[in-house]
Amino acid sequence: MFDSVIIGAGVAGSVAARELAESGRSVLVLEQRDHIGGNCYDEPDEHGILIHKYGPHIFHTKEKKAYDYLSRFTDWYAFGHEVVANVYGKLIPVPFNLNTLHMVYEKEKADTLEKKLIETFGMGSRVPILKLREQEDPEIRQIADYVYENIFLHYTMKQWGQTPEEIDPAVTGRVPVVISYDNRYFQEPWQGMPLHGYTPMFEKMLDHPKIRVETGVDARSRIRFEEDQVILDGEPFCGEVIYTGPVDELFNCCFGRLPYRSLRFDFEYLDQKDYQGHSVVNYTVSEDFTRITEFKYLTGQKAPGTTIVREYPFAYTGAEGEIPYYSIANEANQALYEKYRALTEKIPNVWLLGRLAEYKYYNIDAMVMKALELTEKIKQEV
Ligand SMILES: Cc1cc2nc3c(=O)[nH]c(=O)nc-3n(C[C@H](O)[C@H](O)[C@H](O)COP(=O)(O)OP(=O)(O)OC[C@H]3O[C@@H](n4cnc5c(N)ncnc54)[C@H](O)[C@@H]3O)c2cc1C
Repeated sequence: MFDSVIIGAGVAGSVAARELAESGRSVLVLEQRDHIGGNCYDEPDEHGILIHKYGPHIFHTKEKKAYDYLSRFTDWYAFGHEVVANVYGKLIPVPFNLNTLHMVYEKEKADTLEKKLIETFGMGSRVPILKLREQEDPEIRQIADYVYENIFLHYTMKQWGQTPEEIDPAVTGRVPVVISYDNRYFQEPWQGMPLHGYTPMFEKMLDHPKIRVETGVDARSRIRFEEDQVILDGEPFCGEVIYTGPVDELFNCCFGRLPYRSLRFDFEYLDQKDYQGHSVVNYTVSEDFTRITEFKYLTGQKAPGTTIVREYPFAYTGAEGEIPYYSIANEANQALYEKYRALTEKIPNVWLLGRLAEYKYYNIDAMVMKALELTEKIKQEV
């Protein structure tokens, strides 16, 4: 009945489904959750505030192609995302920039440091703290220490569950200081939120006569692999299968589970107009949670009350209800991933796509680009 089967209706699966459908194929999309959109899914909560169920998602890109592609399915609420860090009760812009400098140091010292930074690195540059640490001037080195201690270290320990010794110095070294007064978190030319939310954007993308979406279906109940063959609903299936779920689960974790960080999201509705005055506040020196998002500031929604969410990271165990969010990039995990990938290589009509199937972090725009690239390849080859 179908030419192609796609497992998962997140960015990867939805873009792939649309592309294959537009090439004339009839496409079946199987999604285990009771909704489409994957982790980008948003919905109004019981108070009517539009929330992102799986954490705040801000679209940002320098890829015009990704922006144009999504713009077929949505208009945009133009939004320059800004993040502040709560450092012992004081809110300062991150990444650390010249505004932060003037909030952290008293005026005379901040003026001198600003002059030195501009003279050494140039206005508008983005300097990794490793570079600041290499400077002879002790005052410039001091900025690197401030950023490391107050913005990076504790936040990273919470996010990744690491001790300071375990934190990769190469990652630490890349933490930037921005020599400008631009408080925006992302510098790409296109950034914003789908005007009516992510879910309507995905609904439009999947609304095609050649696409059938079934939600609430774990694909493993419909599809299995036998030797080098795909069996769909008990019959051999020769069309392409694009799998966007966790690759280890496809093989019952036979080599052991791929490690991930997970998150607990604690939502709270407050009967007040405003909670924190910012979309995202990172807690970089205190608290067990990493950040608080106040959705109204992301979406521009006007409402008498407000909803916030606190994010608590923890190690994913695979227990019922847990969601694997962030793959953990290191050599051992990559080697384990490659063992699973090798199993799929035996089946010529199965393709792995997405943050779970590829065990790799992608932003939305990169995911769009990767899905377009894969479907282009499939269309040319098959
Ligand atoms: C907390 C957080 C915040 C983020 N914020 C941003 C941001 O601000 N900006 C940005 O650009 N990117 C952000 N990202 C990244 C963004 O979420 C990813 O780029 C995007 O979700 C990747 O899409 P995907 O389709 O690969 O994965 P997913 O969205 O996870 O979709 C995979 C889908 O497959 C389904 N599935 C899995 N297994 C099965 C199965 N056996 N049967 C059926 N269905 C199955 C899942 O239920 C899921 O719906 C963020 C990620 C996280 C974790």
